[in-house]
Amino acid sequence: MNHAEPLVRFSGVQKTYDGVQLVVRALDLDIQRGEFLSLLGPSGSGKTTTLMMLAGFESPTAGDILLDGRPITGTPPHKRNFGMVFQNYALFPHLSVGQNVAYPLTVRKVSRSEQAERVAKALDMVRLSGMAERLPSQLSGGQQQRVALARALVFNPQLVLMDEPLGALDKQLREHMQLELKELHQRLGVTFVYVTHDQSEALTMSDRVAVFNEGVVQQLADVSALYETPANRFVAGFVGDSTLLNGTLELRSGQAFLVLPDGRRLAGVHVGAGTSGGRAEACVRPERIVLHTAAAAPAGQVLRATVVRSIYHGDHVRLMCDVGAGQELATVRVVRGHAGACPLPQGGEAVLLEFPPASTRIYAAPALH
Ligand code: ADP
Ligand code: MG
Repeated sequence: MNHAEPLVRFSGVQKTYDGVQLVVRALDLDIQRGEFLSLLGPSGSGKTTTLMMLAGFESPTAGDILLDGRPITGTPPHKRNFGMVFQNYALFPHLSVGQNVAYPLTVRKVSRSEQAERVAKALDMVRLSGMAERLPSQLSGGQQQRVALARALVFNPQLVLMDEPLGALDKQLREHMQLELKELHQRLGVTFVYVTHDQSEALTMSDRVAVFNEGVVQQLADVSALYETPANRFVAGFVGDSTLLNGTLELRSGQAFLVLPDGRRLAGVHVGAGTSGGRAEACVRPERIVLHTAAAAPAGQVLRATVVRSIYHGDHVRLMCDVGAGQELATVRVVRGHAGACPLPQGGEAVLLEFPPASTRIYAAPALH
């Protein structure tokens, strides 16, 4: 086995259910050994279909899926030996927790004594030691999902597939389980492929994220690159918050500008294709915009704006600001208690918003079709 090669490779994979609409189009995707990879995208973007093809429950209409360099397209699901946890991948209600976790070992004809040992270890791993005799109905939702996880891990699979496994849990438990999953992944060194529509969940847990839209991977990157340097307008809008400004693109001596409808210009980083005069959007993260009082004369590029409202978030405040020129409100994230920070402006107050060029990403608007 060549360890430099990816564990899984999707090569030119396509999928259509009805013979007309491609729900996965020309997918080329490498999954590296030991990584935590999330497939992130809105509902209907093809994430579950991609995972189901990897699991073997669906077959690609075209292309190949390789495991360790060998095509597995004809291998049935149970022979692929992957662990699986789905939102509705229910436990057997009439079997105890221990019996549920032992199930994959029973199927694989593992001896009784080894089963007992492995089940105890798996339950310990998900912190459910002592619960082996209970029935699933006697556990909370979060505990049941941990049993499902123990069942997916008990036979030491090299790959674990998860599809929105935390979707049914309340926010607090979900965030707790995210940290537990990440910790477990680091401890075990197993490869995780995780489907979610929740961008903060993907950012919290993953090494890398593949952002799906309309059956196409829009960007595959590690989490910080995804957030700091979105490859296109879709990714910029889907992952994290952005302030969006609409205007036209101006390219002049190697520098890109967004020209607002009222003629004000902002220099920024030009991303992707686009020509001068075309419609464009600038995206700026709320924490990258620097707030100045209207009386200041900052050296950077600034837009005059009026505070419309402030939203209290405890550890920070979000100011919604009207920059005029028919734009949507700009969102500025202000951390309070900074030494030297100006006092928080009130609604109606005039401010100056500084848009650092390096953080102002200008995307040409996609061609209408
Ligand atoms: P996601 O998991 O990103 O929400 P899916 O992969 O479930 O997306 O679905 C992608 C598209 O394929 C959707 O338009 C969905 O309606 C369609 N689809 C999914 N499963 C089936 C199926 N078994 N039969 C027909 N169409 C399906
Ligand atoms: Mg899905």
